[in-house]
Amino acid sequence: WSSETIAVVTGANRGIGFEIAHQLALHGLTVILTSRETGVGEEAAKVLQEGGLNVVFHQLDVVAPLSIKAFVDWVQQSYGGIDILVNNAGVNFNLGSENSVEHAEKVILTNYYGTKNMIQAMIPLMRPTASGARIVSVSSRLGRLNGRRNRIGNVALRQQLEDVDQLSEELIDRTVTMFLEQVKDGSWTSGGWPQTSTDYSISKLAVNAHTRLMAKVLSNRPDGHKIYINCYCPGWVKTAMTGWAGNVTPEEGADTAVWLALLPDQFVSGKFFAERREINF
Ligand code: NDP
Repeated sequence: WSSETIAVVTGANRGIGFEIAHQLALHGLTVILTSRETGVGEEAAKVLQEGGLNVVFHQLDVVAPLSIKAFVDWVQQSYGGIDILVNNAGVNFNLGSENSVEHAEKVILTNYYGTKNMIQAMIPLMRPTASGARIVSVSSRLGRLNGRRNRIGNVALRQQLEDVDQLSEELIDRTVTMFLEQVKDGSWTSGGWPQTSTDYSISKLAVNAHTRLMAKVLSNRPDGHKIYINCYCPGWVKTAMTGWAGNVTPEEGADTAVWLALLPDQFVSGKFFAERREINF
């Protein structure tokens, strides 16, 4: 890897995103560390720059169309394109054992639509390379379709979401919209949705389904123009999101993202990983 390889990391001012940016930069890449707040983002980038790493900051709010547009224009002008996108930005208001859907709209908007926004915005900027451009999304085991504790109760919907041939953007959007409508009219509790971290789990379930869908869509690209897309669960990581509870450090939580982003000659796409191993959706 060299400084010619350009990686973008969203929500990289702190937590797992900061560590992903750090580790990618340690591999010699140029990392565009992005953050929705300029001050904290610049500070974070400065820490890595002072360590001699090739890190540049740019503002990016993954749910703000104007911010995304400004970012795309800047990347185009400054670098002409990118090679790696890491979708890390996310929110979760279910700290500890709480299960609230109070912030469901924000959670779905940021975690699912924000990720989707960035994939759509960045694909046209992804440069042709022999080993393929890469997209890695930070997801969660809580979004598993067949998780033991919190799978969705609607069997027909679950089967549709599981079958990659039936998957469509419309189906995924319809699923999250149905959930949000039930949150609004109060009927979500009997809707068969996950019983823990409900809104967050659904947002990550949508990210996972979208990853599989995009892998299929992108698989049609000709050799030399391939883009490989995967998602992973970082584990239970000690960050602000968990109130610094957890059993792994942000460094450890970042590892599988960096591994997936840099995998040499392994053309895996549309899969879900944890601790560098494939796991079931
Ligand atoms: P943090 O809360 O520390 O980091 C989340 C980051 O996302 C922050 O930089 C935050 O910015 C940013 N962000 C939130 N909304 C936006 C937005 N609209 N645009 C751009 N950036 C935004 O948590 P983690 O580091 O733990 O989380 C990183 C990812 O890992 C998330 O996707 C999370 O869901 C996932 N994850 C985390 C787990 C854990 O145990 N910690 C477990 C499984 C998955 P700001 O500082 O401005 O708020």
